[in-house]
Amino acid sequence: MNNYDVIVIGGGVSGLTSSIYTSRSFLKTLNIAGFPAGGQLMWTTEVENFPGFPEGIMGPELIENMRKQAEKFGTTFLDENVTSISGSHETGFLVKSEGGSEFTSKSIIIAVGSSPKKLGAPGEDNLSARGVSYCAVCDGAFFKEKAVAVVGGGDSAMEEANYLSKYASEVHVLVRGTEDNMRASAIMIERTKKNPKVKFHFNTQIKEIAGENKVEKVIVTNSETNTDSEIVLQGVFVAIGWKPNTDFLGNLIEKDSAGYIKVTNNTNTSLHGVFVCGDSADPRYRQAITAAGTGAMAAIDCEKLLSH
Ligand code: NDP
Repeated sequence: MNNYDVIVIGGGVSGLTSSIYTSRSFLKTLNIAGFPAGGQLMWTTEVENFPGFPEGIMGPELIENMRKQAEKFGTTFLDENVTSISGSHETGFLVKSEGGSEFTSKSIIIAVGSSPKKLGAPGEDNLSARGVSYCAVCDGAFFKEKAVAVVGGGDSAMEEANYLSKYASEVHVLVRGTEDNMRASAIMIERTKKNPKVKFHFNTQIKEIAGENKVEKVIVTNSETNTDSEIVLQGVFVAIGWKPNTDFLGNLIEKDSAGYIKVTNNTNTSLHGVFVCGDSADPRYRQAITAAGTGAMAAIDCEKLLSH
């Protein structure tokens, strides 16, 4: 009963797309979706850039639809986290879940995604999706003619600031270090500095994100002068890095120094019979549509392996 052709680990966009494809190809598919299931789109509001939805679609609704579609083709779901994987394609993989269940399979598709690093500032969690965001491309358009802040001094923060400047009236970039020690590349800093809507605040960290039901202001501390001040704004975009959710894999599969799974060719990983898709192998694009695309690719590669 617990033996599958493929176990997909992850119930976000990439894992659901893989599951639609594998189960539609008559592969007996188990999706161990994680808990809470659904990935990053579950805490996104409206998704306006997923092709096929000219009026936009709410993130959770898109996930629900994709899950129904996978179920229609026969995918079984388990909303738990995976704790370990062992074995091989030749002898069969053994996958254990948090609830103590064990499953075997001939192949595995890893689709565990990544999580934005959080600031840990008061107000951040309460006001998440009510002004606090971790993705300018996803949410920037909701801040037309509004004031926003971007937190971080890396390339992600520079990119987010420039992107947001297309919509926002002013973009405050809050960098905790000095101008000389910014991590962003020189060209990105230069481009951002030239942007008339962007204002840099160095040596500046958020002490609190404040607002009743939505973001109204941030209280910031300047570490040089040791003084607090307020910036009135409507949005806070946290861009202090991402962390792929790959810790549970240990050394089973090759990863880069940041924990992203290394893709050897197409969607193969260093372990034969284990494929990867979505953000856990993608530090660059991180879009719902690119996750879906690689989800389909992993399923096709998996199907090819099993048909031989
Ligand atoms: P980085 O790790 O490069 O930068 C993270 C930034 O966040 C740093 O400025 C860091 O400050 C700051 N930070 C970390 N924690 C906190 C905190 N608690 N409070 C305030 N600030 C904090 O991450 P990125 O996501 O920017 O970039 C990751 C990789 O992706 C890089 O290699 C980058 O070059 C690449 N990238 C490339 C792009 C491109 O080429 N178009 C676009 C986006 C990313 P501190 O320096 O003080 O530690």
